[in-house]
Parts: sequence; C-alpha cells; structure tokens
Amino acid sequence: MAREFQLYIVPTPIGNLKDITLRAIEVLKSVDVIACEDTRTTQKLLNHYEIATKCYSYHKYNEKERLNFFNSLISEGKKIALVSDAGTPLICDPGAVLIEELIKDGVSVTSLPGACAVTTFISQVPRLSEEFTFIGFIPRSAEQIKKIVSENIDKNLVFYEAPERIFKTLEIIKSVRGDIKIALGRELSKLFEEINIDTIGNVLNHYNGEIKGEIVCMLYPSCNIDDDVIVDKIKKLKNKGYKAKDCAVILSSLYDYSKNKIYDLALSLE
Ligand code: SAM
Repeated sequence: MAREFQLYIVPTPIGNLKDITLRAIEVLKSVDVIACEDTRTTQKLLNHYEIATKCYSYHKYNEKERLNFFNSLISEGKKIALVSDAGTPLICDPGAVLIEELIKDGVSVTSLPGACAVTTFISQVPRLSEEFTFIGFIPRSAEQIKKIVSENIDKNLVFYEAPERIFKTLEIIKSVRGDIKIALGRELSKLFEEINIDTIGNVLNHYNGEIKGEIVCMLYPSCNIDDDVIVDKIKKLKNKGYKAKDCAVILSSLYDYSKNKIYDLALSLE
C-alpha cells in the first residue's frame, strides 16, 4: 500500500487521453480537491475518467488567495491534488509558489511519475551523451536566444517553443551556430506526432513556412569528428552486420557528419 500524502502533484496527458497512470486516476478520485490551471480543461479529463472530485483554478493571479484556501483545507485534514492543463505541473507550468509555501508549512508532498513533453521527446531522440540541458521555453528576444545558444554550444540543448515563433527562432539559431543538426518533436502522443532529425535548413524546408501544434526542440552540440574516427566507427558497425545505408543513418544522427559522405565511405570499405 502506498504512503499517504497531503498534496499530490499529478501529471495529466499531453495529448493522448490514455496517457495517465492508474495511480493518477486513483489519486484524483480519492483527494478532496483538485487544484488546476483551467477548470474547463481539467473537467474534460475528469469527465472522461468519471472523476467527481471538485476542482479549483490556481494560477499566478489568484495564488495568494488560493494558498490560504488550500492551507485551510489541509489543516482540516483534507487532501489536495495539483494538476496543470497538460503534462507535469511545475515543468513550465504553475505550482512552484504553492508547493514552496505548503512545504514551509510542513505539508507532506509527493509527485507522481507521468506524462511530460520533454521526457517523451528526449527518450526517442538519439544522443551521443546522456546529458541534456532543458531551458523550458526559449527566450523570445533575438539577443537572449543568441546568448543562450552560444553559451550552450557543447550541450544537447532542449527547449519548448510556440509554433508561431519556431521558424524565426531557428533562423536566429542558424545565424549563430550555422546549419547544425537539430531534433524537432511536434504533437507528441497525438494523431499527427512526428520527430524530425535533420539540419535546421532541411527542417525549415520540410515545413515550408507552415507548422502547427505543440513543439519541443533539441540542438545537437557541435561535435566535429575526424575522418579516421568515422571510418573506424563505420568498420565497427559493418563488422556487426550493418549495411552502408544503416551506418549513414546511425552515424549521421550522432555526429556532425554528412549522411551521404558516410554512405560513400561505407561503400568504399566494402
Ligand atoms: N507541463 C508540460 C509538460 O510536462 O511538458 C509543459 C507545459 S508548457 C505550458 C506547454 C509546452 O510544452 C508547449 O508549448 C510545447 O512546447 C510543449 N508540449 C506540450 N505538449 C506537447 C506535445 N504533445 N508535443 C510537443 N510539445 C509539447
């Protein structure tokens, strides 16, 4: 049996309504109150799972007032779940102030594992290193974008961005980092989900000025690799039975090295 807490942080789906855990449903049913961003959005999820718990909106404009309200409920022995419109609360979503204050007041808090755009994305993007730097929403101003991108040139830099800004943002990044390789995830877990791993130029061409839906993006670090090192890696893959085409796909997704060039090198080693 799971330990009981006074406040539960509960992730909700980021697109596919089924992406919610059994425990999350159980917690949402069992708590006395749900704190959410937009009651209309959360109510749809609650209706779908026949959850009758009452929800109250919580956002930056009413957080003080709500804090007192939630605190008084907790002092009456009631339990609260905090959700956001989609995904995990506090990941580019509100809740930090509430939780900070409740922890100060000695309230027991736990967080349930669950849906989150950045983890859904990063778990399907091949990387040379495990490490990645997530900056939340990338800043809007060109100066700030240039600064953050230049400061993180050697990192897998992951960010959220709105569809109406992504082209401009990628152009700014290209002006600083050149036509580097990126991974762009769109509409993850939804009907038209896709991941596009290619150079900025090719990604921009792919969408041809029109992109819709929710986006998460990663800039690969600049990772120059010597020809003899890539030849060595091709040989190793070929020894394991990989064809020239496979070597090109695998190695170009890991290094700043042209797919065609790897393919030609792999063929020349046959
Ligand atoms: N709390 C959420 C989470 O756990 O990922 C993030 C909330 S933030 C306000 C919303 C941003 O997350 C979107 O603008 C988009 O960048 C990203 N996002 C949310 N759902 C997504 C999805 N299904 N596919 C791609 N990106 C998504």
